[in-house]
Amino acid sequence: MPEKVIPIRPAPAFREAGASAPKAPRYAGGAFADTLGRSLRDLRISVTDRCNFRCVYCMPRDVFDEHYTFLPHSSLLSFEEIAKISRVFVGLGVEKIRLTGGEPLVRRDLERLIAMLSELGVDLTLTTNGSLLAKKARALKAAGLKRITVSLDSLDDATFKAMNDADFPVAKVLEGIEAAAAAGLAPIKINMVVKRGVNDTHVLDMARHFRGTGHIVRFIEFMDVGSTNGWRMDDVIPSAEIVRRISAEFPLVQADPDYRGEVAERWRYADGSGEIGVISSVTQAFCRDCNRLRLSTEGAMYTCLFGQSGHDLRTLLRSGASDDDLRDEIVAVWRARGDRYSEIRTAETARASKVEMSYIGG
Ligand code: SF4
Repeated sequence: MPEKVIPIRPAPAFREAGASAPKAPRYAGGAFADTLGRSLRDLRISVTDRCNFRCVYCMPRDVFDEHYTFLPHSSLLSFEEIAKISRVFVGLGVEKIRLTGGEPLVRRDLERLIAMLSELGVDLTLTTNGSLLAKKARALKAAGLKRITVSLDSLDDATFKAMNDADFPVAKVLEGIEAAAAAGLAPIKINMVVKRGVNDTHVLDMARHFRGTGHIVRFIEFMDVGSTNGWRMDDVIPSAEIVRRISAEFPLVQADPDYRGEVAERWRYADGSGEIGVISSVTQAFCRDCNRLRLSTEGAMYTCLFGQSGHDLRTLLRSGASDDDLRDEIVAVWRARGDRYSEIRTAETARASKVEMSYIGG
């Protein structure tokens, strides 16, 4: 099957004050796709493996306890390294960069990285637990952040705590969401991971609270990411059931995706009061259009959220590799990609050892 033609646009380079932007080299190799014909469009960059929450589906406290050894700063990619590699990715067709973690806002001076990446002219966004957002929203926007996604698993403090295992008031996260909206980071997406028997009875509260605000709640099926969150199929509330529950009170109409490969399935309120999304990795796999690559905190490329191993880029970066060297490595990894984990998930694969989400971002 001929490979899909992908328009490769030149990446804008970083400008010193007053200097004109040098032309970024175009990828001479032309079009490239993975073994399932998917193009590379979205890059997710984990900037830290640390977090101030202990969400049960991501960093359960019994594993990530006070004795857990997080990565030393020296092994994290520096902002300059992230910027260099991002420039290469943009030259290869990446249109969207999402900063993740752990909790990205715990990485010091993140605004400096955002300012560097905003020079690339991509859709620059970030996923946060919102705990530091009220304080940082303005600076993030001023640095060049375009949009933001906030994780919020309930509006009820006790249930919120049952999901994130941190003594942190919901009111502070809501304050952060308002600060982000006031700073112009709208529309804000709000991610709610739904776990049966823990917070699923709060789905309607979330829908009611954000309906008509312009913010978009995405209800996420509980996933077997990593190998520490004790995932069971019984704890999954299928998205179809979430849609049914909400639609019973606020009729919903399915909406078209914004772009091919969009993760969330979009549903509009029939009365025009906004929309929600559902992310159904377990019951409605969306691997066929998956155009995402993840870069771990230490500079390893993961071609799937449920990957077992990554492809080291840091060694190349730190051995003085040129943009061409890095480009060839990325293209080679992507071309060999055949991931479609959600299509082949079994109880056995769910138990297999997989990379932790807090290391590569969601
Ligand atoms: S399971 Fe892997 S291949 Fe499938 S959509 Fe998720 S990240 Fe992409």
